[in-house]
Amino acid sequence: MTETPGDSFSQLPLAPQVLANLQHLGYERMTPIQAASLPLALAGHDIIAQAKTGSGKTASFALPLLANLNVRRFAVQALVLCPTRELADQVTQEIRRLARAEENIKALTLCGGATMRPQLASLEHGAHIVVGTPGRILDHLQRGSLQLDALNTLVLDEADRMLDMGFSDDISAILKLCPAKRQTLMFSATYPDGVTTLARKHMRDPKEVRLAARHAAGKIRQRFYEVTESQRLHAVGLLLDHFRPVSTLAFCNTKQQCRDLVAVLQATGIVALELHGDLDQRDRDQVLVQFANRSCSVLVATDVAARGLDIAQLEAVINVDITPEPELHTHRVGRTGRADEAGWAFSLASLDEMGRVGRIEEMQGTPSEFHPLAELVPAAGEPLRPPMVTLQILGGRKEKIRAGDVLGALTKDLGFDAAKIGKINVNEFSTYVAVDRSIAADALRGLNAGRVKGKSVKVRRL
Ligand code: AMP
Repeated sequence: MTETPGDSFSQLPLAPQVLANLQHLGYERMTPIQAASLPLALAGHDIIAQAKTGSGKTASFALPLLANLNVRRFAVQALVLCPTRELADQVTQEIRRLARAEENIKALTLCGGATMRPQLASLEHGAHIVVGTPGRILDHLQRGSLQLDALNTLVLDEADRMLDMGFSDDISAILKLCPAKRQTLMFSATYPDGVTTLARKHMRDPKEVRLAARHAAGKIRQRFYEVTESQRLHAVGLLLDHFRPVSTLAFCNTKQQCRDLVAVLQATGIVALELHGDLDQRDRDQVLVQFANRSCSVLVATDVAARGLDIAQLEAVINVDITPEPELHTHRVGRTGRADEAGWAFSLASLDEMGRVGRIEEMQGTPSEFHPLAELVPAAGEPLRPPMVTLQILGGRKEKIRAGDVLGALTKDLGFDAAKIGKINVNEFSTYVAVDRSIAADALRGLNAGRVKGKSVKVRRL
């Protein structure tokens, strides 16, 4: 492949020895995320970048943080927050490789789950760069074993995942302890509300780096089914039973249609919830938590209600009716097949809606693939069930509950396998924990009988 001028590292304002090291590492051309973010980040801008593991995102923040570093100043100048220890280890390794251009740059990993003593000893020896998980970093800051006075670069890696894991409060607390004058680089695969709020509160005029339309053709498989009005809602159930997607977003043109669909699906035992504008914030959060943690199979919404929703891992989108605006159709369909996963987009069209289908075809430039409803045969065995169940603990941030407390109660105290515990969301007054369906009843009993953070708690199944 020939090198295009736009993606050569040599056009970046990097020191010759850094460029030589990149060449030595075999980094010949910038990856798309590097080409899009490095010029901005090296110019000192705060950035929010959409990127996932494998895209070369680590170098996208490691090179700028190294460029900001003064090696002779032996103090922590860069902090990278990661959701997991595995990621933190990987990031530290990559930073060390990229730091080889200069001598004596020290990077340290500080993660929860590891014993304190060696970490304290390493901190005593000092470091230029610290990479770690929010809980443990905050712990060190509160003990005074880590100081951030000299910090000039803060990186939030996989911000959406950190929020999913309940690190929101820890991150806010850490941000409060960082010097105001700094460069902040945030990486996130999706942009849920929490990520946008973080950016608004803690970043300076951040530049957004999004790569070109990520729902490239081929990743999304679109199918149309012709239905009569009386078949329409039942056809949704048929699609779900046939394809068995774990998470589906179903779009309706009207609120009434949403309500009717939820009733029809629930009557067949499918776990479906409606997202509509009349929900208060708490109910909306509760619906979204259940959908995101995979304990609700179908979220039914109008376009308005679904606005701003950013959910990873959506296996299918169903257009329960066809929208009159072709752009909206493309928008709906683009919600599946994210992050390199293949996704299904099903559309149910009555004869009356064929004109709309025609406009969609025109816009997309491809003919619609119509399949007969009769093709849909329910899979044998159990009806479609979400893999997880949500348990609601009455008590949240107000009670100082943290995700780690709940995980500890379930794994250490009650002996459940951590692999069977899903997302933990700590809200102000409630904590939601997703557990594998197979342990739901036992986990519910155990938590109700046991303790979280030393106190007995009330828990119910949603
Ligand atoms: P990451 O997405 O940061 O985890 O990076 C994925 C892998 O790609 C890592 O092994 C990096 O060392 C490597 N890598 C990152 N950028 C480049 C590049 N421009 N050229 C070649 N390899 C790269």
